[in-house]
Amino acid sequence: MVDDNIKQNITKLEKYAKENKIPIMQKEGIKFLINYIEKNEIKNILEIGTAIGYSAICMALVNPKIKVTTIERDEERYLEAIKNIKLFNLENRITLIFNDALNTKIEGKYDLIFFDAAKAQNINFFNHFEENLASNGTIITDNIFFHGYTYMDPQEIESKNIRAIARKIREYVDFLNDKKNYVTEIKKIGDGVAVTERVQ
Ligand code: SAH
Ligand code: MG
Repeated sequence: MVDDNIKQNITKLEKYAKENKIPIMQKEGIKFLINYIEKNEIKNILEIGTAIGYSAICMALVNPKIKVTTIERDEERYLEAIKNIKLFNLENRITLIFNDALNTKIEGKYDLIFFDAAKAQNINFFNHFEENLASNGTIITDNIFFHGYTYMDPQEIESKNIRAIARKIREYVDFLNDKKNYVTEIKKIGDGVAVTERVQ
């Protein structure tokens, strides 16, 4: 059966990600995304951070009307994503862009923009892609908890690099909460998911 085939291929991607340490979205997070897309009848999705295409594929599989545009700057992952999108026959509904997102100018409006790339860049992603958000659109950001580091006492974090990323994520959450025309909710799902809905 077709459905079994899809499930098998999804499992294959999850296994590949685990073996190659590709930080794909956690199961719980994917479930939430899929649910959100269904409930809000999302049609056009822009994703920042494709990796091997796992989340883009999961989102596109919600229903045949969905179109996903996704950006990845790592060549090896981008090439893997091309292969995977072909495996699911989703070439017509997933557009892959190989570039740094902040150097990519996107045309058009999206019901949902999903940030799942460099954790310290979220404010820049927001400012860069806000013009691509539909008037009633939503921005969803993954990894808000950053494995628990975000709200840990900075003195307890040994790595300077991790401390800096944690601070950037806290700044991003403040930035979201300060936005007058958006309402943000941080969901305790997976590694933490921020749901930022535009209010008219
Ligand atoms: N969304 C994927 C996982 C993405 S992992 C999934 O759940 O299946 C994050 C990816 O973002 C990495 O592959 C990394 O190379 C990419 N990335 C980080 N910063 C980026 C940027 N500025 N532009 C494009 N891709 C970026
Ligand atoms: Mg993530």
